[in-house]
Amino acid sequence: MAEGYCVKCKAKKEIADGVEETMKNGRKAIKGKCPICGTVMFKILGKSATTTQPEVPNNNPPAVPPTETPTV
Ligand SMILES: [Zn+2]
Repeated sequence: MAEGYCVKCKAKKEIADGVEETMKNGRKAIKGKCPICGTVMFKILGKSATTTQPEVPNNNPPAVPPTETPTV
């Protein structure tokens, strides 16, 4: 079950009547209602709900800005 934040109850609630939707930008979201007050809740799931994106390996050195080398 999906949980969302209800702005009226100011608490996390289980989304009632949750419907999974895919937005224009390819992101998935769950749209539903707060079981307490009926406020529309919206939870963005991310680009893909099933596949996790591979993390960047830690071997690479962090990107540093090019240091200014004095040209003589
Ligand atoms: Zn509520």
